[in-house]
Amino acid sequence: MKLQEYRSKEILARHGVPLVVGETATTPEAARAAADRIGGQVVVKAQVLVGGRGKAGGVKLASTPDEAEQRAREIIGLDIKGTTVKTVLVVPAADIAHEYYLGLILDRASRAITVIASAEGGVEIEETARTDPAAILRLPLHPLIGLQEYQVRRVAFFLGIPAELRRDFADVLRGTFTAFVESDADLAEVNPLVVTGDGRLLALDAKIVLDDSALPRHPDLEAMRDLNEEEPSEVAAREAGISFIKLDGTIGCMVNGAGLAMTTMDLVKLAGGEPANFLDIGGGAKADRVAAAFRIILDDPNVKAILINIFGGITRGDEVAHGIVEARAQLTRDVPMVVRIVGTNAEDAKPILAEANLITADSLDDAAAKAVAAAGAQA
Ligand code: GDP
Ligand code: MN
Repeated sequence: MKLQEYRSKEILARHGVPLVVGETATTPEAARAAADRIGGQVVVKAQVLVGGRGKAGGVKLASTPDEAEQRAREIIGLDIKGTTVKTVLVVPAADIAHEYYLGLILDRASRAITVIASAEGGVEIEETARTDPAAILRLPLHPLIGLQEYQVRRVAFFLGIPAELRRDFADVLRGTFTAFVESDADLAEVNPLVVTGDGRLLALDAKIVLDDSALPRHPDLEAMRDLNEEEPSEVAAREAGISFIKLDGTIGCMVNGAGLAMTTMDLVKLAGGEPANFLDIGGGAKADRVAAAFRIILDDPNVKAILINIFGGITRGDEVAHGIVEARAQLTRDVPMVVRIVGTNAEDAKPILAEANLITADSLDDAAAKAVAAAGAQA
């Protein structure tokens, strides 16, 4: 789950990272009032969960409350990479002497929380990684000991943090690290971290991405979810207890088990198709859950066929078959459905599926080929 800049800043501020959260506003008038309270020059910033807001016109300076209102009027309603801006953040403007990049990620390759740092901050780090990889430091941290003092110094030296600011920099890095660990984050990023004209360190932008699987441990963070910015089908899936990720293909996948769902997607691609989603229906696969999964998959107009791949362990194949037939009867939109059920009571499932005119398959290769063919015939 991605957190908005102001939420990310609230978390980092609690851990001692020097920054000003500012005030959010959803109307130009409210932005004006916020600028008036803050006083002096401010920055009006679009609160959307995509990067590169600055380049897209979503970050603007304003010298007066009048101007802040005007800038907010331009930014609210703006489309940034497919998201419409609903909220802006008004913060005191900083006088920037230097911009750094500082981030912590859960790096699967090094199997460790890893510090990423660069003195070429401000711009997109991906761009720097391509053009000048030597300008980026990657420092994996020990999984048990965590961030050590010598590592803090190493990062500070790499960045060329002025000597008088190294102590403050240690607070920034340590604070970001504890925020990362305590909130079970996948990413905590400050870009830019700046040295101001009057020689202070300040986090001007922040982004935290939380591990969805750890959210039950953090009801306070879960409450920061911005439903306005989530894929509606993913919200519906979460409410139904289904793991679902929307993709861009034409073949809807309904599978029990995450590993089997990944394999199913691989085989769809191997058969020349593109999956429309990842979907793990979970254990049991009862009729109401199957119906919810159908609705979520078919809500995507790109879906031209559905591939249902169920492995019956404790789940009984005949029950799933009944569930599929029952759920399908409630649908308002229908597409060809290819069903592969193996395992417990798979034989009993066959006549039920055949009677309902569903396409059946014995192997997953066969099922994927049939689904790809059916989707092709629809397109
Ligand atoms: P992003 O484009 O979504 O990463 O948004 P940022 O908050 O990082 O802002 C983008 C750029 O706008 C920064 O790299 C700065 O160059 C500039 N910017 C942001 N805040 C301020 C500020 O307070 N003062 C000045 N002078 N520039 C700012
Ligand atoms: Mn930024």
